[in-house]
Amino acid sequence: MTGSAARPPRRSALLRATTAAAVAVPLCTAGWFGWRALDHSGPAGAAAAPATSSPGSAPAAEPPAPTATDQPATDQPAATGTPLTPPVAPAPTDSGPTGGAPSAGTPAPPADTATGLAGRTVLLDPGHNPGNSAHTAEINRQVDIGNTRKECDTTGTETNAGYSEAEYTLDVSRRARAILTARGAKVVLAQDGDRPWGPCIDERARAGADAHADVALSVHGDGGPASGSGFHVIMPARVVAGKADNAAIVDPSHRLGLLLRERFHAATGEPYADYTAKDGLDTRSDLGGLNLSTVPKVFIECGNMRNSTDAKRMTDPQWRQQAAQGIADALTAFLTTQEKTEERHGS
Ligand SMILES: [Zn+2]
Repeated sequence: MTGSAARPPRRSALLRATTAAAVAVPLCTAGWFGWRALDHSGPAGAAAAPATSSPGSAPAAEPPAPTATDQPATDQPAATGTPLTPPVAPAPTDSGPTGGAPSAGTPAPPADTATGLAGRTVLLDPGHNPGNSAHTAEINRQVDIGNTRKECDTTGTETNAGYSEAEYTLDVSRRARAILTARGAKVVLAQDGDRPWGPCIDERARAGADAHADVALSVHGDGGPASGSGFHVIMPARVVAGKADNAAIVDPSHRLGLLLRERFHAATGEPYADYTAKDGLDTRSDLGGLNLSTVPKVFIECGNMRNSTDAKRMTDPQWRQQAAQGIADALTAFLTTQEKTEERHGS
């Protein structure tokens, strides 16, 4: 989850009504409903069909197409009569040719990007921390995110079977690190299971700049209603307030967001979320990790851990490898097409 506690009225009521020890996951879910009530009061039951006809169904191994990043894909209406079933995920193979991948069945990276990331730095931010639930006092501390104050961090959500979001995000981030490292990038994790809790969201936001990263990405799993499924990407709204000024990263982060939606969908077969966001994309101004970042950054909610179908996928190591592949492919495309985009804008 990404800061559902940001909606102050609802959160405050919830916090007053619950003890710190009991908060954790129920608050995450309850906060989500509060958010729906506050910000999405329109009819949500007839959610649009997952955009299976989206341009994001290209094969994962296809080289990046620079021109595609300029297309406002969100404007494309869902084709009527399109089958509602999600696309079939790429069949795992036994070839597993990438030496850096942590498990078999990893598709080969595009040939032209196998070593194309030398000299580039990526900051991966695994959402939450498995130890947060044992450090509620520390993570409930308020931090400044520019336009408001917010909890240092949250515990995140989990599947009904108890597989935690924090475990998920760390595993997928490590898998993505292996792929990107094999392609020549330097990869820094905001946390690598090497600290008892946190870091706080403002420190996570600074981590990109601290690492001198070219790009940053925060990995999450959502805790929405059990009936909803699918993934979505969260991009930064422009926030210039207090210590926050992310104006310079809004455009490149949007480009990254479109690439991530395309590549994650292609690698995993996961449909766009049918219970939140729009066509798999959201833009938010309440996330410290985006408000305070000075390098291009987006969040991905890889699926809804409270939905049985998504939970089954996210608990499967092979699917997590596909998720990592989609994330790595998007970051690779972003880094290998950036110069061309900038040249076009500068000419
Ligand atoms: Zn989260």
